[in-house]
Amino acid sequence: MTDPLTERVRANLARVQDRVADACARAGRADSPRLLVASKYWDVEGMASLAEAGIWLVGENRAEELVEKWARWHDVFEFHFIGHLQSRKARKVLPCVSLIHSVESVSLVEELNKRASGEVRVLLEVNVSGEESKYGILPAAAEAFLERAAAFERVRFVGLMTMAPLVTDPESVRPLFRELRKLRDRLAEVFSGRYELSELSMGMSNDYEVAVEEGATIIRLGSALLSGT
Ligand SMILES: *Cc1c(COP(=O)(O)O)cnc(C)c1O
Repeated sequence: MTDPLTERVRANLARVQDRVADACARAGRADSPRLLVASKYWDVEGMASLAEAGIWLVGENRAEELVEKWARWHDVFEFHFIGHLQSRKARKVLPCVSLIHSVESVSLVEELNKRASGEVRVLLEVNVSGEESKYGILPAAAEAFLERAAAFERVRFVGLMTMAPLVTDPESVRPLFRELRKLRDRLAEVFSGRYELSELSMGMSNDYEVAVEEGATIIRLGSALLSGT
């Protein structure tokens, strides 16, 4: 018999996938976003329930936990890093991940460039809401940031990421997702030839359907997979 946690994750995952498909249909999208599970809610051994439920992409917030989880599960999951990354931990994180979602300082870009053995794929974290408590580059500063970052050749920006504010009505963050998409489209033109900015990492448990309608290519979910029934 499968354990109850796996069953719960599996049922929630099926519901999420239905809702994602509906959101794609509403938006007339032919492609569908990748679903990343925020692994911070699971301990190392608990991640077995994710594997059994059919999840293959996870994102970790903390460097130490990433290293531990990666050591145990790198044959099973693809790992991304989604938390705030301090430059001094860049070296730890690099061997474990195929994408870092949360780059927002030139010093981190410099450190990644120095420590990487090959190319590092990253997203620029943008603070579209402008809330002071949030990490990320303000939209107006994103172009200048990428111009400076372009000097570091091993670091390849492949898109943008944002964390929307927690709200009760997900419709209220739609303009922020739309703004991130427009910014991505504009920067993709400005930096064509240097960067291919195709990814939009946006949407969490409370607002992923809106994010999918607005063009998310990666949604990051945690609590939606743990909820009751
Ligand atoms: C925890 C976390 C998520 C998932 O949050 P939920 O609201 O539980 O879906 C997504 N992105 C980041 C960066 C996170 O830290």
